Amino acid sequence: MSQSEFALIDRLRQRLGAIAPGQLELGMGDDAALWRPSAGMDQVACCDTMIAGRHFLPDADPADIAFKALAVNLSDLAAMGATARAALLALCLPQAPSAQWLDRFCAGWSALAQTHDLALAGGDTTRGPVLALTVTCFGEVPHGRALRRDGARAGDGLYVSGTLGDAAAGLAIQRGELALIGPASQALLDRLQRPTPRLALGLALRELASSAIDVSDGLVADLGHVLAASGVGAVVHLDALPRSPALQAAHAAQDLSAQGLLDCQLHGGDDYELCFTVPPAREPALLALAQAQALAITRIGEISDGNGLRLIDRQGREQAAANRGWDHFRA
Ligand code: ADP
Ligand code: MG
Repeated sequence: MSQSEFALIDRLRQRLGAIAPGQLELGMGDDAALWRPSAGMDQVACCDTMIAGRHFLPDADPADIAFKALAVNLSDLAAMGATARAALLALCLPQAPSAQWLDRFCAGWSALAQTHDLALAGGDTTRGPVLALTVTCFGEVPHGRALRRDGARAGDGLYVSGTLGDAAAGLAIQRGELALIGPASQALLDRLQRPTPRLALGLALRELASSAIDVSDGLVADLGHVLAASGVGAVVHLDALPRSPALQAAHAAQDLSAQGLLDCQLHGGDDYELCFTVPPAREPALLALAQAQALAITRIGEISDGNGLRLIDRQGREQAAANRGWDHFRA
């Protein structure tokens, strides 16, 4: 059985519009949603589009599609040090979805929305050539305390959360370019399909970090944005880049060469970890934070004067830092 537009919206409203109703004055169902900003807070907004055949396989599990579309937005809020308030969902479908499809979609969305107390405040539903979703997220951060890209200073330590390169390896597995099987393979695919937005970390970093960005297009590309915005350079020690046991297993099984592994870590997108800078005096507090949140935080280098990124290998040699991050319009 497929759903008419209004039945579909009704279902979304029952399943997703009811999450965190306290966030809203008025949710789905009117011409627009209403919510009241908290006192002293700046409002934060971001949006991301995901298109079948470009960002996910057309036959992907709808639960994964919904989860990731929301996760990538929440990751942007995390990178600003914001808390999430509400989301809008513009959904374009090639045909009316089945009830099962919609159920899976709602299950994936609510898994993340419940965790972060995020209300679905409204959206739009249209028919179009391929499945496409645009999620818009709204959050808030105390006035003047947002984590921006332009605050890095020479001498700051450079850090990343979690591990790098997993999602790129997951994509290679999905494409049949990497033959790894078993639990390590599943772990890498999970990182690609269900990224963890680091909201709690972003929140705590408001007190510690001088700049932050989430790693969506690859470390070199995203760190490059911070360096350009801040007018500084950086040194990254390749040996220090944190890798997961699963990525290590892919390398050990010789499915992934040393260069392939490094490529995943430097240029692979979709990890949605935070990359941030912290002045030296606050480093002890950062270590305490990592412990408190039971989250790996790794120092991968430092911010320097001048501009440009220098990649230093184990022998102290400099490697070329070609920017090969994801770019939709690159020829
Ligand atoms: P309008 O014609 O005024 O734009 P719609 O019929 O498109 O209204 O939508 C009715 C209500 O359902 C609105 O509150 C809208 O925000 C909500 N809505 C429509 N599509 C979605 C969706 N995909 N996700 C969440 N809310 C939606
Ligand atoms: Mg209207």
